[in-house]
Amino acid sequence: MKAFVITAPGEASVQDVAPPVAGPGQVVVDVARVGVCGTDVEFFTGEMQYLHDGKARYPMRIGHEWAGTVTALGAGVDRRWLGRRVTGDTMLGCGVCRRCLRGLQHVCEFRFEVGILGGFPGALAEQLAVPATSLFELPDTVDDVLGALVEPGGNALRSVRGAALEPGDRALVLGAGTIGLLIALFARQQGAEVHVMGRSARSLDYARSLGFDGVWTDADLPESPFDAVIDASNAAALPARALDLVEPGKRVVYVGLAGSPSLIDTRTLALKDVTAVGILSASPGLRGTIDLYASGAVDPRPLVAATVGLSGVREILAGHRPAGAGLGPKLHVDPRLA
Ligand SMILES: [Zn+2]
Ligand SMILES: [Zn+2]
Repeated sequence: MKAFVITAPGEASVQDVAPPVAGPGQVVVDVARVGVCGTDVEFFTGEMQYLHDGKARYPMRIGHEWAGTVTALGAGVDRRWLGRRVTGDTMLGCGVCRRCLRGLQHVCEFRFEVGILGGFPGALAEQLAVPATSLFELPDTVDDVLGALVEPGGNALRSVRGAALEPGDRALVLGAGTIGLLIALFARQQGAEVHVMGRSARSLDYARSLGFDGVWTDADLPESPFDAVIDASNAAALPARALDLVEPGKRVVYVGLAGSPSLIDTRTLALKDVTAVGILSASPGLRGTIDLYASGAVDPRPLVAATVGLSGVREILAGHRPAGAGLGPKLHVDPRLA
């Protein structure tokens, strides 16, 4: 089968590889749709921290935002999975440690992350093998595009939960990329007044097209009280800015990661009586995201600007937008396309 393989910083190609076999407890999925995100770009450029601390190494098969159909079962897997449309949790905990047993498998010390950590092959391929325990069935109303948006959606939903918004609260999202805009969509669905701060003209124009209450740059951000500030950027200075901007007694949420230490002054945190929440992974938000997509309460499909085949992935990771792409921040891959 064909798979997208990164072999060194800036070097990647579509290769013929051995098709995956479903080991005990695993299923094989025929991949229908995969999202590409900033994490994938960092693996391509070589900036990703996991490459530097030995948690990931080349050659690498990336892709962790996916939807597909179960086509083979390993030993011990319930036969009802066969033929089901699914997505899966990126985070694969060991299942037996203290954290896993307490429902925190997404921070298991011994975890694999599909297409990210520990050499577990990712979804940018015609097929993918994953543990059946990581699967989530997709209802008919969640198509393949939505299915591949469940993983980023789970991160966004958890961020909004972390903000503990009350009806009428004014929320500020820092960053107008996919996660930032998904957070803004979920927050609006929860009844908040939603403001987005971004940087590039394209992302700001696109955010405005979604009709949020305010779309700003750092320079023109109004001095209004924000009941929650959610940092979904990769700018090292913005976590501290979030803490400065939030109303006393309220919440800051940190889901974005900068390439260098992004420091906050805990004196400000204490003196403002602010609660800070960190979010790693979609895991506890996957089910809720599928439900919100299935009911139509949140529909992020317009965020997808273009869909390419595996042969188009390298160009995307190198920062080139496909010809004819829309303004949205998300690029998708259909491995069945040429
Ligand atoms: Zn991602
Ligand atoms: Zn564990």
